[in-house]
Amino acid sequence: MRFSIIGECMAELAPTDTTGEFRLGFAGDTFNTAWYLARCTPDAQVSYVTAVGDDAISGQMTDFMRDAGIDVSHVQTASNRTIGLYMISLKDGERSFAYWRGQSAARTLADDPSALTRAVAGADMIYFSGITLGVLPSDRREPLLNVLRQARAAGSTIAFDPNLRPKLWASDIEMTTAIMQAATVSDVVLPSFEDESDWFDDSDPQATADRYLGAGAKTVIVKNGADGVLYVEGSTRGDVPVEPVAQVVDTTAAGDSFNAGVFAGMAKGKTIAEAIADACTLSRAVVQHRGALVLIEPDNLSQNDAAS
Ligand code: AMP
Repeated sequence: MRFSIIGECMAELAPTDTTGEFRLGFAGDTFNTAWYLARCTPDAQVSYVTAVGDDAISGQMTDFMRDAGIDVSHVQTASNRTIGLYMISLKDGERSFAYWRGQSAARTLADDPSALTRAVAGADMIYFSGITLGVLPSDRREPLLNVLRQARAAGSTIAFDPNLRPKLWASDIEMTTAIMQAATVSDVVLPSFEDESDWFDDSDPQATADRYLGAGAKTVIVKNGADGVLYVEGSTRGDVPVEPVAQVVDTTAAGDSFNAGVFAGMAKGKTIAEAIADACTLSRAVVQHRGALVLIEPDNLSQNDAAS
């Protein structure tokens, strides 16, 4: 199975135990999903579609992707730019984030729609998020959706996580409007209920699922932290329970790893309920460790490998 994942990966500066010293890493919502997916499905091709600069740090990030088993042949180069950066600060055990991404190369990823069309051609599944859309200049969003619309017509399955991040958008209404437009080109939508209830006033996960089904999605998988997962696929509706962890260490990439778990299950031909159960196992492990990218052995991730 071939996956094309579109979005922004950034340099990450994370504090170490020594005050004033930081460790360099690379992460970003869609990239985190690509990273977990490549680990869970060594037989699948996972291609990351983005733009980077032509400087040293961009090269280091591309090497990091390649070393993780991710195909980088559709990483474009924007020669006068560099990658975005975020820094994590820790105060009294609470993490906060500062971002430098306003001019990042990834903002140019949809400048050339024909390059984007080539990048996703033939993919079985194409995945993007509300963050992918939010980092783009407003006049580049429709060209991206158009490429996805055409890829869908040509047979690709389009998967979308709304990942609502109001700071990336000029206004709340711009964000919610763009998210619902993105849903119209999507087959599978993977929202998180907490964000959706904040920005769309959904009363419960079923209301979130109904809204995306109404926009045209065929499958909606609503994450809801430790409170379980609701899925609706055609006329099938189900709930998958989550076994809450006693001590959450860091929820960074919980949703990103969950999405990778679902896609990995789909690639292995599992039912949606089995794929979601695997996704819960993966994200449950991830929230018990610090950082976005947690090195969990793939063998320990799957509860239902009989179908693989
Ligand atoms: P969220 O985006 O917060 O809904 O979380 C994504 C996924 O991470 C959830 O669907 C769960 O599978 C997993 N998860 C999040 N929080 C917990 C928790 N406290 N215990 C176990 N799993 C969790």
